[in-house]
Amino acid sequence: MAQNIIIVGGVALGSKAACRFKRLEPKSHVTIIDQDRYISYGGCGIPFYVSGDVSDVNDLRKTSFHMVRDEAFFHNCKDIDVLTQTRVEKIDRENKTVQIRRMDGSTDTLAYDQLVLGTGSRPRRLPIPGIDLPMVYTAANLNDAQAIKEVVTKGQVERAVIIGGGFIGLEMAEALADMWEVETTVVEYCDQIMPGFVSSMFARMAQQQMEQHGVHFYISEEVKAIEGTDTVEAVVTNKRRIEADLVIMSVGAIPNVDLARDAGLQIGKTGAIVVDEYLRTTDPVIYAGGDCAEIRNLVSGQPAYFPLGSMANRQGRVIGTNLAGGKAVFKGAVGSFVVKTFEAALAGAGLSLSSALKAGFDAVSVQVAQLDRAHFYPGKAMMHLELVVEKETRRVLGIQGFGDQGDAVVGRIDTVAAILEDRPTIDRISNMEVAYSPPFSSAMDILNALGNTAENMLDGRYRPINAEEFAEKWSCNGDGDECLILDCRARQDGEAFAQKYPDRWINIPQDELRQRVGEIPPGKKLILLCNTGVRSYEAQLNLKEMGRDDPLSVQGGIVTLNKCGLDL
Ligand SMILES: Cc1cc2nc3c(=O)[nH]c(=O)nc-3n(C[C@H](O)[C@H](O)[C@H](O)COP(=O)(O)OP(=O)(O)OC[C@H]3O[C@@H](n4cnc5c(N)ncnc54)[C@H](O)[C@@H]3O)c2cc1C
Repeated sequence: MAQNIIIVGGVALGSKAACRFKRLEPKSHVTIIDQDRYISYGGCGIPFYVSGDVSDVNDLRKTSFHMVRDEAFFHNCKDIDVLTQTRVEKIDRENKTVQIRRMDGSTDTLAYDQLVLGTGSRPRRLPIPGIDLPMVYTAANLNDAQAIKEVVTKGQVERAVIIGGGFIGLEMAEALADMWEVETTVVEYCDQIMPGFVSSMFARMAQQQMEQHGVHFYISEEVKAIEGTDTVEAVVTNKRRIEADLVIMSVGAIPNVDLARDAGLQIGKTGAIVVDEYLRTTDPVIYAGGDCAEIRNLVSGQPAYFPLGSMANRQGRVIGTNLAGGKAVFKGAVGSFVVKTFEAALAGAGLSLSSALKAGFDAVSVQVAQLDRAHFYPGKAMMHLELVVEKETRRVLGIQGFGDQGDAVVGRIDTVAAILEDRPTIDRISNMEVAYSPPFSSAMDILNALGNTAENMLDGRYRPINAEEFAEKWSCNGDGDECLILDCRARQDGEAFAQKYPDRWINIPQDELRQRVGEIPPGKKLILLCNTGVRSYEAQLNLKEMGRDDPLSVQGGIVTLNKCGLDL
């Protein structure tokens, strides 16, 4: 029997659910209702429209065959009715109706057999003075995107402040600094950018990359106010006043759940709507998905909130199938993400070390630095990967990566993301089969090296120290915590450092270590260092064989220290 389906919200989740359902049940009637004037657009493209990479805003609204997805498109191509600039104000579950209000103030009541909530999220706005000043935006939708692009192209912006160093904030910072040469500053409240997503070392790598392209950062600073009279003049933090003509607030997303809550549907502890694996709410004829719904984190098993377009699109298809009587399942997600930082990419899947510890895992992490393709092949670039592992079970909980060739980083992250829900152990990563040819990868790929390094560490063969721990030891040397750097690189690389720091640094190439071990002064903690961590690990094994099992090896080597901004 033909059904009457109402879908509230028509961006990613809503339009996908509508189209999938209509393909399965063409005789049923579907109405999408959205309070905005735009529907079915690629919100993830907003930073690239602002930057100018995407020149026409309508490109974000077009199909791959160049049709703009507006009301007429949905009516003519999909036989779906769309009501834009129309707000759903109430759900009456008993009578299965929704109350709507149009722009002109007129209201109506529409009946449904099944209802979909794709109400998405809204950007969090800090409750600070000046938040309502002109030139304060949130970059949350196409209206914001057009407004920001307009003031930038008109030359009204010389200095911009982005509040929040999450992925949207970073992308917007790059958009302004790169194409428009706006003096751009990011202010982050936490002690690193991308907090919770990556380790502080990977955050430093991305930050340094962006600093090299002119973006300024103030980390661990709280924005207290936005100053200005007729327009924005400055952002005031607990430490300074930063002059600005434009402010973009990017401090997180809040799920739009008022309709659901008022209708008595269950809201979860993340603040989003509770759904089952079929994406049904606590009312079996009402579905919810995308940015308004809570799903399961497939690694931690706990309720999670992932406001990501990749989730909304896949969930929309599941809902469309189930509206038509199907039994499609959305089990949850591992939270894969990637963010472009100029020519590099920062990506991850599963839990970072801090989020794993917070979720109650007894976890550790290990890092490697290796070329992303065969060392002899032109065009190779360094890649950094970090694997988060549960100590006792050796279960892989997450992976993060940073590298100068984004596609190569994403390839590795996606490979591990695909198996994370199967609870893989590190030997699965050690033996991971990846397609190999020198222009694309290495015979022993960086993923395999990562698994092997984790195994060596958990077995006690490899005793690493990370860049942050190294920096701490390096800076407190002379304060009673004396350590000596044993540089295992070739003379042409290590000798200059030994001359620069004669009391703290010696250079014995790893292949000479057996003969020259007597030259190591006694009584100091040894820290082994090489270019990427391979020779220092070999040196650690050599020294152990010779009776010294106390040295630590700098993981990722000097390449990683430099990438984190540690200038030796
Ligand atoms: C700048 C930016 C960059 C992003 N980049 C990425 C990225 O690179 N990768 C990624 O995976 N994700 C990215 N995202 C996130 C992604 O855009 C969202 O996850 C996705 O748009 C969510 O889709 P949705 O349909 O659930 O909700 P939304 O896109 O929020 O749409 C919900 C719609 O419902 C409407 N609505 C709400 N309540 C009502 C009501 N009562 N009546 C009528 N209409 C209502 C809203 O006005 C809105 O139009 C980005 C987001 C932004 C803002």
